[in-house]
Amino acid sequence: MIPFNKPPFVGTELEYIKKAISNNKISGDGEFTKKCHSWFETNFNSKKVLLTTSGTHALDMAAILIDIQPGDEVIMASYTFTSTANAFVMRGAKIVFIDIRPDTMNIDENLIEQAINKKTKAIVVMHYAGVACEMDKIKKIADAYKIFLIEDAAQGVMSKYKDKFLGTIGDIGAYSFHETKNYSSGEGGAILLNDTKFIERSEILREKGTNRSKFFRGQVDKYTWVDMGSSYLPSDINAAYLYAQLEKADVINNDRLESWGFYNSQLLSLSNNGLIQLPFIPEETTHNAHMFYIKTRNIAERSDLIEYLRKNDVFAVFHYIPLHLSPAGQKYGVFNGKDIWTTKESERILRLPMFFGLKSNEKEKIVQTIYDFYKS
Ligand SMILES: *Cc1c(COP(=O)(O)O)cnc(C)c1O
Repeated sequence: MIPFNKPPFVGTELEYIKKAISNNKISGDGEFTKKCHSWFETNFNSKKVLLTTSGTHALDMAAILIDIQPGDEVIMASYTFTSTANAFVMRGAKIVFIDIRPDTMNIDENLIEQAINKKTKAIVVMHYAGVACEMDKIKKIADAYKIFLIEDAAQGVMSKYKDKFLGTIGDIGAYSFHETKNYSSGEGGAILLNDTKFIERSEILREKGTNRSKFFRGQVDKYTWVDMGSSYLPSDINAAYLYAQLEKADVINNDRLESWGFYNSQLLSLSNNGLIQLPFIPEETTHNAHMFYIKTRNIAERSDLIEYLRKNDVFAVFHYIPLHLSPAGQKYGVFNGKDIWTTKESERILRLPMFFGLKSNEKEKIVQTIYDFYKS
C-alpha cells in the first residue's frame, strides 16, 4: 500500500534528541527550541517566532493576543480546518464565512469588504495547500478598516507571496508541525509575531501567564503571575526532531516540489481532455508542494476514483467538509453572501499521496492507476 502520508525523517533527528537529553533540559525553551526560533527569524525575516505545542495553539494564542471578545466578528473562508475557526469561537467571536476562489480554493479577496461591519475584528486567511492568498489586496483592506490580519499558514511553511514568506505578512502568523505537514515534530506549531507590540504578551501567555521568560533573561529579579495564560511551549525533544528537518529544509522542499512537478506534468493530458483539473498556482506565489490535489468532475466520480485507487493499493483522501455546513459552523457562524464555489469545489478535491521521500516507482504507479481508471 502506498500511504497518503509518511512523517518526514531526515536522519539526524535521533542524534539531536540524544543531545537534548544529555543537556538535562527536555522541557520548553531549551537548546533546540532556541535554535528553531532563530532559524525562522533569520531565514524568514520575522520579528519573533515562538514554537508552540500545535498549530491550533498558535491560533488560540493569536485570538487572545488580538483581544477577541464575545460579539466580535471574524471573517474567514468556510473551506478550512476547524482550528482556524475554533480559536476565535473559544474567545466568543462569531465567524463570518465567505466564499472561496475556485482556482486556488483560497478566500476570495473580492468578497471580504462587503462582509466587514463595526463588529469585525479580524480577517483570518488560510493559505490552502501552501499557495498564498492574494495578500496585497487583503492587507490593504485590513489596513483601511484597521482590523487585524491573521495568517493560518499551517500548510505554508517555506511558501512565499512575492518576496515574503507566508506567516510573516499579517499581524500574526501560525505554522503547524503536525506529522502531516512538510516539517514536523509529531505535534507542534509556531506563532509568528510580525508586530513587536505582541511579543512581550505572547511570551507571558505561553508561560502560564508568568513573566518567566523575562526572569530567565535577567530582566526581572523574580517571576510572577502577570496575565492570563496557558502552557503553549513544546518539549525540547520535539524541537530537536524539528530542528533536524529545518537544517534540511531545502532538501525536503525540493524533494516535494519534484513529486508535485511529476504529478502535474504526467496528469496534464487528462486535464487537457477535460477529465480532471490540476492545481492553479498564481504567478506572484511560490508554493511548497504541501499538497497535490486534482479535481474530479463531481463527487460521485471522486468516490469511485478513491475506491479504485484503494483497490490498487494507493491511499488517496479528500477533505474539508465546508465549516458552514457542519453543526458547529452553523452554531457559531454565518455565511455572508452566496456559497457559489465552496461546497461545489470542495466535493471535487482528491488529494494524492505526497510526502518527503515518495519514490519514483510509487509516483509512476499512482499516475498509471489514475490513467487506468479513466480508460475504463
Ligand atoms: C494542520 C492545520 C492546522 C492545525 O495544526 P495542528 O498543528 O494540527 O494543531 C490548522 N489549520 C490548518 C489549515 C491546518 O492544515
